[in-house]
Amino acid sequence: MHIYLSSLGCRLNEAELESWARQFRAGGHRVVSSPRDAQVMVLNSCAVTAEAARKSRQFINRLHRQNPRAHLVVTGCYAELEPARVAALTGVDLVIGNRDKERLVELVESQIEPATMPRLAAEPEATHMYAAARTRAFVKVQDGCRNRCAFCIVTIARGDERSRPLREVVDEINQLVAEGYREVVLTGVHLGGYGRDLGTDLYTLVQTVLRDTDIHRLRLSSLEPWDLPPHFWELWQDTRLMPHLHLPLQSGCDSTLRRMARRCDTASYVALVEAARAAIPDLTLTTDLIVGFPGETEAEWAATVEFVQRIGFGHMHIFTYSPRQGTAAARMKGQVDAKVKRERSRQMHAIAARMKAEHLRRFQHDVREVLWEGPGEPLSDGRVRWSGYTDNYLRVYALGPAGESWENQITPVRLLLPPDPHPDHLMAENLSPAAVPIPSPAAF
Ligand code: SF4
Repeated sequence: MHIYLSSLGCRLNEAELESWARQFRAGGHRVVSSPRDAQVMVLNSCAVTAEAARKSRQFINRLHRQNPRAHLVVTGCYAELEPARVAALTGVDLVIGNRDKERLVELVESQIEPATMPRLAAEPEATHMYAAARTRAFVKVQDGCRNRCAFCIVTIARGDERSRPLREVVDEINQLVAEGYREVVLTGVHLGGYGRDLGTDLYTLVQTVLRDTDIHRLRLSSLEPWDLPPHFWELWQDTRLMPHLHLPLQSGCDSTLRRMARRCDTASYVALVEAARAAIPDLTLTTDLIVGFPGETEAEWAATVEFVQRIGFGHMHIFTYSPRQGTAAARMKGQVDAKVKRERSRQMHAIAARMKAEHLRRFQHDVREVLWEGPGEPLSDGRVRWSGYTDNYLRVYALGPAGESWENQITPVRLLLPPDPHPDHLMAENLSPAAVPIPSPAAF
């Protein structure tokens, strides 16, 4: 079969897609890069917000329009939350809930009749999608969440916590190393809950991956700021574990955090951050913040603004609260006025930009390693503009000579500030022998 894979939403959805691509290929199928070349199209949908659910519907309709003869399989959180509505959409042949995702390849093979496969005009070029970009792979290690944050539909859509066996994760990472990947990101819905159902934990998983694989760079995706043992930070003595933590704060005010049913308060968040910063040199701390949660008063907002600046973040994902049907928060009184939400979002984006610039300035003239991502962007003067991330997750750009690929290379660079009052990235002078020295910052 010729399979087209697509996903919306979170890194976990992407990690699942990468895993299905490998399974389909192992089963002798072709993963194609265009829906027009597919006999089966799979969408891993998202429903984290009402807007995301609308986008999932839109994507389903577009896929069917692009190739009405192909079979259309929809999985993911939107399929889990509204299976009947998805099944009723034109062109949808199979709806697979989140709890059956692990068996998606087997279900597609068993439930889609080969005889009903549309004949292909020509043998399409097999995509190198999920194969060629052997730079960073997202590896799903855990699914589901036992917490009940009031704004979150994911915990409802993805169900109870379940972890992949530790050896299975290690074997997958060794396979990825053999395929040429330089970086792996461990991802899950509630990563910190890894192993609870298997009598182990995230500390042991990370320790084992570092011991039993040769992955050059190991990253952790989003980590809720609780359930982390005091010795957790010892893991960063291994410099293959990247000095970047994404700890969702959501609010910097204790009364708002209580209404959100978050399992942390500002004092425990401060303690966690101080312990991490003490143990991990040059740590980049990033976070998620919800603006305009129901009942958020001016005083609560002021507390959040003050707290965020006290912590200092290298980057922030700022979400304007929108009610998500099916969550406790959507039924709460005191929904904040849209104009007020917009103003608070504008304010927080300005603060985030300033903190990011301050964080970047700390590292100018530093020499750090960058993993370059492909493809480079050819410039009119023949040189190539490359981008990548440092170990501590700083975005950098650099120029390379024509005809030379830096893709998937890890090279030492000297970090430089671009001529911008509010830089959101750095430039890099590639120190590897072949690199071209940067003539002037204005080149960027
Ligand atoms: S811990 Fe994360 S996934 Fe779980 S309910 Fe809270 S926000 Fe949702």
